[in-house]
Amino acid sequence: MIRLVLFGRQGAGKGTQASMLSEHYKAPHISTGDMLREAVAEGTAVGTRVRAILDAGELVPDETMLEVIKDRLDHDDVQQHGFLLDGFPRTVGQAKSLLKITVVDLAVDLDVPEGLVLDRISSRRVCQQGHIYTVGDHAAQSGVCPVDGTPVVQRDDDTPDAVTARLDAYKVKTAVAMAYFDSQGLLLTVDGVGDPETVFHRLVSAIDERLDNDARW
Ligand code: ADP
Repeated sequence: MIRLVLFGRQGAGKGTQASMLSEHYKAPHISTGDMLREAVAEGTAVGTRVRAILDAGELVPDETMLEVIKDRLDHDDVQQHGFLLDGFPRTVGQAKSLLKITVVDLAVDLDVPEGLVLDRISSRRVCQQGHIYTVGDHAAQSGVCPVDGTPVVQRDDDTPDAVTARLDAYKVKTAVAMAYFDSQGLLLTVDGVGDPETVFHRLVSAIDERLDNDARW
């Protein structure tokens, strides 16, 4: 079992890498962004509370996020196979709370410079199940996800204002959460520039090497 946290700014390719890593390590991919968007689409109590926050690109309060994540970590798949956390924690409060409720083997920072991500975000299209495409892809052009048949659209928070708000929150708040993992000796930074396959192999070798070394000590 493996318990990984994946950091990376918006458009770094974090979602794509998280699903590839989840398949590779056989650990459930837990994307808090996907979970919240699903809650909004289903109109659950949490969904109603967070809808406007998501659309503005702001952060959902820590207590709400903790409720959501605690619930998810209690599921059998996590107990048996660990997790690949994508989008949580995003504040130092969330980071500290997470380390109180579970062991984390490693936090990985998928590092892509801010200058590179803006174009990627404006051309990003997603389906309702979270599969990710770019505007020129057949899936985006036809508007139907080839994997699950749900509509492929631009996310409500991929507007310029909301993207700027999310990148600011990342710089101000998530950077501190990352620094906290670093202070605990748990942070590994991996260069996220390159095509998805290259980055994936780079990630797996860096993670395996680090976890092998940790195991030896
Ligand atoms: P991105 O990384 O592109 O911002 P996500 O899909 O990870 O997108 O998250 C979308 C939105 O969901 C965030 O902008 C925020 O409003 C909310 N959200 C997701 N995870 C968290 C979290 N851990 N804490 C606070 N808000 C969150």
